[in-house]
Amino acid sequence: MADYTFNSNRAFIAVIQGGSAAVILDSIVTLCARHQIRREIHFSGESEATGIPLPKPNQSYFLYLHVPFCEVLCPFCSFHKVEFEHAKAANYFEALRTEIQFATDLGYHFDEVYVGGGTPTVQTSELGKTIEFLRGQHVVKRLSVETNPAHLDADCLAALKSIGVNRLSVGVQSFDNQILKKIKRYDKYGDSTSIQKGLKETKGIFSTLNVDMIFNFPGATAQQLQRDLDILTEELSVDQVSFYPLMVGSSTRKFLDQEMGGVDYGRERAFYEQIAIHMLSAGYKRSSAWCFSQNDGLIDEYIADRDEYLGLGSGSFSYLDGAFFSTTFSIPRYLNLVNSGRTGFVRRREMSGAEKIRYYLLTHLFGGVLDLREAESLFDGEFLRRLWLEIAGLKLIGAVRREGDRLQLTEAGYYLWVLMMREFLIGVNSLRDEMRQHISQERSGMSVGA
Ligand code: SF4
Repeated sequence: MADYTFNSNRAFIAVIQGGSAAVILDSIVTLCARHQIRREIHFSGESEATGIPLPKPNQSYFLYLHVPFCEVLCPFCSFHKVEFEHAKAANYFEALRTEIQFATDLGYHFDEVYVGGGTPTVQTSELGKTIEFLRGQHVVKRLSVETNPAHLDADCLAALKSIGVNRLSVGVQSFDNQILKKIKRYDKYGDSTSIQKGLKETKGIFSTLNVDMIFNFPGATAQQLQRDLDILTEELSVDQVSFYPLMVGSSTRKFLDQEMGGVDYGRERAFYEQIAIHMLSAGYKRSSAWCFSQNDGLIDEYIADRDEYLGLGSGSFSYLDGAFFSTTFSIPRYLNLVNSGRTGFVRRREMSGAEKIRYYLLTHLFGGVLDLREAESLFDGEFLRRLWLEIAGLKLIGAVRREGDRLQLTEAGYYLWVLMMREFLIGVNSLRDEMRQHISQERSGMSVGA
């Protein structure tokens, strides 16, 4: 193993050596994060959104587009998605273009776009039309699109290349055939060999080929994880790997409990350390707490990079001017709203001053480094004053250190941030469940709700 910063961080080594102390610390951080996030991330009792808020003058924005269609639905997945139907998806893409036009008319300028899902590549002709429409009005410098291994064919890749995709993110989850069978992806998205073949053929076409993986599936072993790591770095040598810890929401817990056995968060730290040691030793650098890239400057999680983002399409979230927004999770209602001249925005939640500052700390340190001058300027010199207790606590447990005007995660801090972001995204999954509740009547075949 190469010598890298793990060895130079005494706090991290102390945590590793005191295994039980680490477990206690992880439990405390999890409980605190869960408690705080559940208090802050919800739309219950919040006001109806009255459309997209106005943009700030001379500001370029990050645009997220949601495409909620998949050919088959994976039972462990909490994202907003429905089964693909050709005509329904074509209508949806048309509405998405109309909604982009609404945002453009309000004065938004988009310089970076992320198309997520669902599976954005279910209908590449419509995706192409949408990106072309967007590029006709905005100077899009970076375009990231998600896909699945079954779409890595020559036609789809050529279509994505022709619309200027910079980063292609492929949802693989695991290369282990047993795990792929258990999570019901083996028959739908191919076995390990065919997924590897598709990735080999895709490598080099886009500036960044990212592979999304999940670790800590129930029953997974360190040997299975090691094999995945070797495939990624030695056999494929992909540009970037995002290793998500398994996140269980109320909508997916039943499947995981029944089909795979419950999730054991007590094994997560050891898996994460195995991943970090392997990826850093293989020459990858951290782009965020759970993303590893071969080169600096590769596109990664926008939440760590961009203070504000606008999400369009059904089932999208936005963070704009200190407020969270959600669009409707009902696709019929989304189409009705947009086709009658409105946007899909249906919920808005203003964050308090303290919530905004904590959200900034969480998302910026997820990228590893927080620029204190920027933070102070954004929060009128109140950032360190308002967060002194949290930052003192993080220093005490060896999670952060100050280097001049930067607050930096330590090696020990990276896992704690994985844990906090896991709780944050589980909170976002609960938000999705909450939004789906509003359309439970529609989902059971009755009238359309919120
Ligand atoms: S994991 Fe990907 S392909 Fe499977 S249902 Fe979720 S979004 Fe669709």
